Amino acid sequence: MITLLVYPTAANFSKVSEKQAVSDSIIKKTTKIMTKCELCDSPAGELLHENDTLRVILVDEPGYPGFCRVIWRDHVKEMTDLSREDAALLFDWVLRTERAVRKVMSPDKINLATLGNMVPHLHWHVIPRFGDDPHFPAPIWAEARRSPTEKTFPDLARRLRDALMEP
Ligand SMILES: [Zn+2]
Repeated sequence: MITLLVYPTAANFSKVSEKQAVSDSIIKKTTKIMTKCELCDSPAGELLHENDTLRVILVDEPGYPGFCRVIWRDHVKEMTDLSREDAALLFDWVLRTERAVRKVMSPDKINLATLGNMVPHLHWHVIPRFGDDPHFPAPIWAEARRSPTEKTFPDLARRLRDALMEP
């Protein structure tokens, strides 16, 4: 709000409009978070599995092949917004996804995370981690330590789909 007290002389005019542009874009972003949800409005990746309550997506994340998300169908915010039964069902699919990723990719580690600070629509990240991935051993949201490797997993979506269907 200090911006409003600065009289836009020629010398500071561009600074003021720059600040205004920044605050406009924050307002736009906030409005977008409040009125639109990308997890409701778009597939958000390559579909691996879908049922009445959730979907499992293979996310296109550079440097992170096999990064999956398990997305609850309804737009709820927290695990405790679900009934105990639904929470158990969701977590069962998170574990199924973990099992599938381990079977197909044999990662050094799995990271499970649910954050939803940017998109407050309940979803879990299932992230296969390798010792030479861009952030290891830090979380993938930290600053990168190295470039992505050339590691590829041919036919990954199909193999994950098949593995997800195993009992
Ligand atoms: Zn949503």
